[in-house]
Amino acid sequence: MFVTLDERVDPAEAQSELQALGVWPTAHQDESGRIVGFALAAHSAGVSIERLGAVNGVRQVLAPQSKHPLLDARANRPVEVAGLRIGDGPPVLMAGPCSVESEEQIRVAAAMVAAAGARVLRGGAFKPRSSPYAFAGHGALALGWMRRAADSHGLAVVTEVMSEADVDLVAEHADLLQVGSRNMQSFALLRAVGAAGMPVLLKRGFAARIEEWLLAGEYLLDAGAAGVIFCERGVRGVDPQTRNVIDIAAAALLKHVHGLPVVVDPSHAVGRRDLIPVIGRAALAAGVDGLLVEAHPDPAAALSDAAQALGPDELATLSFVPVPEDRNRARIRYRQPPFWS
Ligand code: PEP
Ligand code: MN
Repeated sequence: MFVTLDERVDPAEAQSELQALGVWPTAHQDESGRIVGFALAAHSAGVSIERLGAVNGVRQVLAPQSKHPLLDARANRPVEVAGLRIGDGPPVLMAGPCSVESEEQIRVAAAMVAAAGARVLRGGAFKPRSSPYAFAGHGALALGWMRRAADSHGLAVVTEVMSEADVDLVAEHADLLQVGSRNMQSFALLRAVGAAGMPVLLKRGFAARIEEWLLAGEYLLDAGAAGVIFCERGVRGVDPQTRNVIDIAAAALLKHVHGLPVVVDPSHAVGRRDLIPVIGRAALAAGVDGLLVEAHPDPAAALSDAAQALGPDELATLSFVPVPEDRNRARIRYRQPPFWS
């Protein structure tokens, strides 16, 4: 973005007014050394073109055409999931097992995540697995089990859709449709999921650039999605000790510069239960709108992603505290780390 200046104004005054808005101006001079305008980098907040145009001394605002106008038009607006607003209030906890393994397992898991302050139950019915021989979920059966378990605790349901053929079935049971990391650029699936007209949780592809992730969100909105919540779940790095490399800067960029609803999935990001609470807190400190966390009543028995499943006690360490007067909201209680005292 670039602003040109009126010749009669003092560039220093225009510069400080621009800085006060939270943008970062870099001066451009003509051959005689006179400052004729500023290139603007988004700093901590999205500022509207109208507001920039109203700065004293700004003659013209030159903005490149956006590649994702539908997303931009929704900046700073929350996404509603079964009456729960995500994006403009306290962070929301979404939790549950990697896979829905049985009716009993998801019933116990729902009670456990509700007790930890979660508002959304997660669980895979259709699982993307690297091996064709691994447990791939109970499909339609699991959707019914999960819906009943969630309803008995007033929880919303988020679950993955892997195939265009399953969109209607999943949409009948879920409140939030999940597009997984491996499918972030499955464009036909994005169109089919968007056409369901529901809110969508869009995981970042494990090798996707931020712009590609945004464009995948634009696909969903263009197809009719009611809203898009972006989920950072880590990108592939070089070291297997953590499953992926968590990109908190990407989450912060989408949240603070683009004004989009963002949650972080520390479970798939780090792949090991010991680091999940602390990385979750790091994401919350960056201002994200919630966490998506894998939790299992008996992690050792989990049929998928056992190493990253939190048990009931570990889930409680996330310290999501339901606010009694408004059960739609959850608040994070930060424990002061020792190095701050
Ligand atoms: C999941 O959340 O169930 C999942 C498979 O995650 P991802 O798509 O991020 O790997
Ligand atoms: Mn998983």
